[in-house]
Amino acid sequence: MSARDPTTEELPAWNNQPIDKLDRSSLLWTTIVGVHGRKKEFKKKPCIFCFKKYVGGPTNIEQHLDNMVYSKNIAACKPASKFIDRHTEAVAKLRIIRKQNDEATEAANERKRLKA
Ligand SMILES: [Zn+2]
Repeated sequence: MSARDPTTEELPAWNNQPIDKLDRSSLLWTTIVGVHGRKKEFKKKPCIFCFKKYVGGPTNIEQHLDNMVYSKNIAACKPASKFIDRHTEAVAKLRIIRKQNDEATEAANERKRLKA
């Protein structure tokens, strides 16, 4: 089976939304062809960058997109050359969000530790 380019109508919001305006969830969902919004997907849907079809929520999507995220259930994304820039930008943004979340968790743990 050969991959085909998604049609314009299948392209989700990423086509016209800058990555820095998207939150984590929206950004992750915009990498799945034909998915609009945040509903859970049970059917296999193709990745917008490499057209690999898979099922999963935001955690799985992040694992697919970023080869630095471990515990892989899904093979890492190999973006088509024309999507490399967008893929790189998306992964960079996801890494920043993860770092911020980690720091927030750490700060919360530190507060708990000080109270104890
Ligand atoms: Zn992919």
